[in-house]
Amino acid sequence: MPELQLDSASLAFDRQHLWHPYTSMTNPLPVYPVVSTKGVRIRLANGHELIDGMSSWWCAVHGYGHPALDAALQEQVEQMAHVMFGGLTHGPAVELGRRLVRLTPAPLEHVFFSDSGSVSVEVALKMALQYWQAAGKPGKHRLLTIRGGYHGDTFHAMSVCDPVTGMHSLFAASLPQQLFAPRPECRFDSPWDPADLKGMEALLAKHHEETAAVILEPIVQGAGGMWFYHPEYLRGVHALCKKYGVLLIFDEIATGFGRSGRLFAAEHAGISPDIMCVGKALTGGYMTLAATLTTTEVANMLSCGNPGVFMHGPTFMANPLACRVACAALDELERCGWQQRVQAIEAQLQRELEPAKTMAGVHDVRVLGAIGVIETEKPVDMATLQRFFVAEGVWIRPFGRLIYIMPPYIIEPADLSRLTAAQLAAAAMST
Ligand SMILES: *Cc1c(COP(=O)(O)O)cnc(C)c1O
Repeated sequence: MPELQLDSASLAFDRQHLWHPYTSMTNPLPVYPVVSTKGVRIRLANGHELIDGMSSWWCAVHGYGHPALDAALQEQVEQMAHVMFGGLTHGPAVELGRRLVRLTPAPLEHVFFSDSGSVSVEVALKMALQYWQAAGKPGKHRLLTIRGGYHGDTFHAMSVCDPVTGMHSLFAASLPQQLFAPRPECRFDSPWDPADLKGMEALLAKHHEETAAVILEPIVQGAGGMWFYHPEYLRGVHALCKKYGVLLIFDEIATGFGRSGRLFAAEHAGISPDIMCVGKALTGGYMTLAATLTTTEVANMLSCGNPGVFMHGPTFMANPLACRVACAALDELERCGWQQRVQAIEAQLQRELEPAKTMAGVHDVRVLGAIGVIETEKPVDMATLQRFFVAEGVWIRPFGRLIYIMPPYIIEPADLSRLTAAQLAAAAMST
């Protein structure tokens, strides 16, 4: 397919015509042309190979070009690439629904498929708002969250992202004003301090009559700061939501499917929410797909009153290709022994990132599951570090003061050591 080759003219076209995430059209940083991916390796057009430290933003947990996932997709495309989900159904959707109901915490029984994480968050928020309409309490229309969160780039999702690092000032005039509790300060593995819950409790006490739901990322705050907080905080929020009659939504889009060391991060606290979003690793990084799950109690309420149906329905809802490859990715998760793999990655990250703790210019080092973070004191120089990492043969994409990795679960120890060595070297350059 010669027209798909990346020559200098294609790169010039890309630079002039294609947006990349959060990038300037007139003055973008260079992008690296990729020709293929396999296992944990990304192959560039010049033949240079990079070890993937990002799992393509938390998604490609089984690595690229996995035989079982490739086969599932090929078989499915021969049967049916897509069909509308309004009035029709199909095997891949039913199979994936079964797996999700079985794998997620017990009360989550009903599944809404959508095309991306942000949309699954919109769906979750709409469920919460429509729930209170149907319950005869339309005054409960605001959302409460914690600072430092990230829930996606669409409008309602944006409104519950961190008000400073999110895009609130830019879109202030069009964004709904939500309620923000302080970021939980107790670390995942440090002693619990009940004072951490005070801000949340005060907001709920004052605003519960206008609050539909609390939404947060359980245990791991991802793109909002790569912060790991105490499970007791989550149990506390769960109890407060019950006490004040507010729904609880967990955004497990980044944490779902083993990344934090548990299948879902909520399991660290032994609790389950009323509504939960999953995405990212759901298809092993093959296709864009997300799901919002909820309880029978919420699902029944959404069927009450007027209109008596849940008002959402994406064009590509439950796309068969995406559902089929997601089934294969979930099967592979069980088959590959993800728990031992994530544990081994965690132990190696802890060991190999330890030296950063005493480095000048390093503010903090933290590891949870297959996530390893070095937080520097000053913001890193993205352009310099990107060149440095590529020259070292690794793909790591830092932001702000965070040099972090979340490698595919299949990574071998020697490859992981190359990632952590590059992280340490980058931290040393960032003083
Ligand atoms: C990535 C992410 C989203 C948004 O998902 P998209 O597929 O990019 O729309 C939402 N919440 C969390 C926690 C995420 O990490």
